[in-house]
Amino acid sequence: MSSALIIGGGPAGATAAILLARAGQTVTLIERAPGPIDKVCGDFLSGEAVTLARSLGVEPLSLGAQPVTHLRLISGTRIAETALPFPAFSLSRRRFDEALLRTAEAAGAKVLRGHAVTGLDLDTTRIGVRTQGLGIISADRVFLATGKHDLRGAPRIAQSDPRLRPIGLKMYYRLTPSAAAALAGHVELILFPSGYAGLQTVEDGHAVLCLLTAPTRDLAGPTGWTHLLDRLTAACPHLRHRLDGAQPLLDRPLAIAGVPYGYLHQPHGAEPKTLFRIGDQAAVIPSLTGDGVAIAMHSAAMAVGASLRGEDATQFAANLHRALARQMRIAGVVHKAGTKPGLQHLVVWAARTWPGVMRWVAAVTRVSGGG
Ligand SMILES: Cc1cc2nc3c(=O)[nH]c(=O)nc-3n(C[C@H](O)[C@H](O)[C@H](O)COP(=O)(O)OP(=O)(O)OC[C@H]3O[C@@H](n4cnc5c(N)ncnc54)[C@H](O)[C@@H]3O)c2cc1C
Repeated sequence: MSSALIIGGGPAGATAAILLARAGQTVTLIERAPGPIDKVCGDFLSGEAVTLARSLGVEPLSLGAQPVTHLRLISGTRIAETALPFPAFSLSRRRFDEALLRTAEAAGAKVLRGHAVTGLDLDTTRIGVRTQGLGIISADRVFLATGKHDLRGAPRIAQSDPRLRPIGLKMYYRLTPSAAAALAGHVELILFPSGYAGLQTVEDGHAVLCLLTAPTRDLAGPTGWTHLLDRLTAACPHLRHRLDGAQPLLDRPLAIAGVPYGYLHQPHGAEPKTLFRIGDQAAVIPSLTGDGVAIAMHSAAMAVGASLRGEDATQFAANLHRALARQMRIAGVVHKAGTKPGLQHLVVWAARTWPGVMRWVAAVTRVSGGG
């Protein structure tokens, strides 16, 4: 029987593992983290992500997910609000990703945690996977699902200067009861000069603030996070109000630099036809769409479908590229408008004047189909 190796146990890798194992394949998944971890992510689960999770047998509500029915868009003192055009939830990635990995194990996938893959040898028909602690493993098909982390031997082709790419940061809070009540059921998207932040409640009465900023000197040194927050709360009284009296729940924020927004993998002949890139290894959509997890799961389902039909990774990548190109283009335009200081007030004014525009944008930046 042919063997599949999955590198990375996020939503993309775990989805692929579940589907391959349920199709009777021999599957091994290698994840470098030894146990559940927090990830830099706004923890927003779009309607598509929820549908895909349920189709795999993972019910976000039973994990403590909070329903999100409305979007608030905020710039300075301007606020626009609209109902989301799809049912959505918020749930920590620590809990969501863990549930997917456990489902993969229950489906029969071998999940090896606490082992990092250090590189790939791509010059053979069977790809060699170098690992920490497990030696070199070879497999007929490899599903590359390491998220934003590139592996030695299989870098993504850079589409922008890494030094100019944004930085993602995340902190959990316990808000005051009145702030938590005002936030319930909403995802708040706060635009600020050089970036935007998402704020929403998650399970256990916690709230998550996840933000994206252009590289900034504010972040230098041990007090960088405090400086940045001071600047944001000064620019946005709404955020200051929300965080007044809030208790941070992590010692320091989680951070990721050099986020390659807009990256969409172009199939090319130099890569083996047995290397399927899925999740952020295939496409990195701007996070204000809140659809990255759905794309990760959707791309995994498409890759598994292709490999079970005997299609190669180049065909799969071309089909995925076609399926995502329009969504990625629109998301890129929205991201640019949302991060341009001169346009941010205008964006919120337009959203308040024509709330249908916000719903339209939310709808057209979704991945189509449930896998
Ligand atoms: C600031 C920000 C906010 C976001 N907010 C949202 C949001 O609210 N909603 C949403 O849907 N999307 C959001 N996204 C996007 C979303 O987080 C990603 O699209 C999604 O996590 C991609 O899933 P993945 O499985 O491809 O990668 P990941 O979730 O990153 O998983 C990759 C896994 O691979 C493992 N790994 C990495 N390297 C190795 C290695 N060498 N060996 C073994 N294992 C390895 C990692 O430990 C990790 O578990 C956001 C992104 C950013 C940057």
